[in-house]
Amino acid sequence: MLEKEVHNAGNVWRHHFPRHHLVAACGISLALTLLLSVLPDSVVAYRTPELVPEELIQPALPAAIETTATPEAAPPPPAQLDPWLHLTVRKGDTLSSLLQKAGLSLDDIHLIANSGQDAKQLTSLDLGDQLDLLIKDGKVEQLKLTRSKLESVAVVRNGDAYQAEHLVRAPEIRHGYASGVIDSSLFVAGQKAGLNDRMTLKLADIFAYDIDFLLDIQPGDSFAVMYEEYYLDGERVGEGNILAAEFTNQGKTYRAVQYKSSDGTTAFYSPEGEVLRKQFLRTPVDFAKITSYFSLSRKHPILHKIRAHKGIDYGAPRGTPIRAAGDGKVVFAGIKNGYGNVVMIQHGAAYTTLYGHMDKISVKNGAKVGQGQMIGTVGSTGLATGPHLHYEFHVNGSAVNPLANKNVAIAEPLSKAEKARFSNSTNALLGEMKQLASAKQQKAQQLAMNTNEEPRANPIQ
Ligand SMILES: [Zn+2]
Repeated sequence: MLEKEVHNAGNVWRHHFPRHHLVAACGISLALTLLLSVLPDSVVAYRTPELVPEELIQPALPAAIETTATPEAAPPPPAQLDPWLHLTVRKGDTLSSLLQKAGLSLDDIHLIANSGQDAKQLTSLDLGDQLDLLIKDGKVEQLKLTRSKLESVAVVRNGDAYQAEHLVRAPEIRHGYASGVIDSSLFVAGQKAGLNDRMTLKLADIFAYDIDFLLDIQPGDSFAVMYEEYYLDGERVGEGNILAAEFTNQGKTYRAVQYKSSDGTTAFYSPEGEVLRKQFLRTPVDFAKITSYFSLSRKHPILHKIRAHKGIDYGAPRGTPIRAAGDGKVVFAGIKNGYGNVVMIQHGAAYTTLYGHMDKISVKNGAKVGQGQMIGTVGSTGLATGPHLHYEFHVNGSAVNPLANKNVAIAEPLSKAEKARFSNSTNALLGEMKQLASAKQQKAQQLAMNTNEEPRANPIQ
């Protein structure tokens, strides 16, 4: 084992990273608030307020009376009593808490939750999911979790056991288009353009490396987006991925198009085939080899305790140059706890990289750095017994594994062969987006002309 160290990531982030951390956190909570506010808290509701006693579900009708009575005098037919209990998932709900609320025993809940592979879908509920229960003699007869018109999980009682089935319908996919100009906020403009907040967040995420959506957005900025719309039996039931998008920020236009490479990875690229977020170097130190991977349960080499290792260790001789993984701004340069000499660089609003155990630091706090620029050298300062770089990658304030996390999206540049394939596949999308844009423009012009011509078209006035 080459590398030995102690990490106190929590302290570093809390004490030395307040502003940017806060900004990122604000971003998340803003986004969440916006998302959550879409679903009013009161939605939840038991639509059938109480459990319906069974005798009311199937009332015994005195058939004899019906035959003698006149139609007018007949007792009104019993109100259609819905034997199902309908619940909507709200903040903080779990399958277990909802089923307990419905009066079910923990044993039953356990049986349902463990009724096979498909039942695992029940363990993560989303806000707004619909949970329908048919309860008989205090036990669930049937349970249906509806995530969307496309996806549901059905659980049926079979004697003393339950059987779960995950049902997924494939929708017809059409391409939707929306565009708008920002006057107050991106979310308001998105809503005006017909995008839900989730789609607006996706749009912002694509350009998160280039544009700081908290600080850089100005009135007059504009966007356009082409995305998948899901249809089922002719009815629009939801939306999927963004296929192509553009965003004009302070007069500069950024474009993105989605591409699934032949190895199956999907990422956003510029129309020229540049990876939008390739800006992060895969290895921020030359001639290094990985000596310890990202792990949430690693036995610490010095402390001999199980501790998360929220970074990647690159073993390299003392003095080896360490390079900034991407363009950004130094937000911390100094000594901190077990990290020893450490540099943190902020890239856009969402990303931060951290470089620990450095021998020498060659940048100052607040400095702008370019990708590949030397920021210091490999050392063993702090709690490390051998020279290595401890490298962390943070997304919105949380350490992620840069080698595995999809959100980091460090796609490799396209190879020559892949570029040809890229052009074929994306030219069609970009062309279609252009057409949709000009169709929308024509429609707007037509509308404006009709409005202007109206007085002339009606000579009587
Ligand atoms: Zn480490």
